[in-house]
Amino acid sequence: MSAFHLRYVDGAPVPFTLGKIVCVGRNYAAHAAELNNPIPDKPLLFMKPATAACDLAQPLDIPKALGSVHFETELAVLIGKELKKATPEAVPGAIAGWGLALDLTLRDIQSELKEKGHPWERAKAFDGACPLSAFLPADRLDPSEAIAFSLEIDGKPRQSGNTANMLTPIAPLIAAMSQSFTLQPGDVILTGTPEGVGELQSQQQLKLALEDQLVVETHVA
Ligand code: ZN
Repeated sequence: MSAFHLRYVDGAPVPFTLGKIVCVGRNYAAHAAELNNPIPDKPLLFMKPATAACDLAQPLDIPKALGSVHFETELAVLIGKELKKATPEAVPGAIAGWGLALDLTLRDIQSELKEKGHPWERAKAFDGACPLSAFLPADRLDPSEAIAFSLEIDGKPRQSGNTANMLTPIAPLIAAMSQSFTLQPGDVILTGTPEGVGELQSQQQLKLALEDQLVVETHVA
């Protein structure tokens, strides 16, 4: 697997190397409910390493023989300035771009790990676990406004998200992450998945959209 390179939608290179990918679980109440998970009282954070990233626009090479691989469609935020114990007010000025991601999850393995109280990395941080799109420049979306994104599989709507439904909205979420983890230029934030997650099958055609500004078509290898 070659290293993943961040890029903008117009093909311009992003002047940062991908760092860590900081993620939040259960940031949409309806998704927490569909997996029978309680809503956490503060953001449930986890990370994926840069080696988990791959190009969303390329055929998705998902693990076989490790049980079900679930798709979770998420709005991705590219960080362009360091955030360390930041306030929510400092977050918008540190955003360098907006993209789409799949938080691929080995759901059977995750269920086993959760039952035992073990960390989730084997289910969430494996190679290829984070297909990422190209990024829209930061000024194309406003984090204080509702941002819609969606997933269709084989032409049928499967997930429809809107940041207005986040339990912890973008700026306070990223500020909360920065209390524990210094965020650096090139880090990417995954902001949680709405309801409708499910299992990927080989040959499925996926179409992801972020407002009417970014559309990515891909398929499962
Ligand atoms: Zn997720």
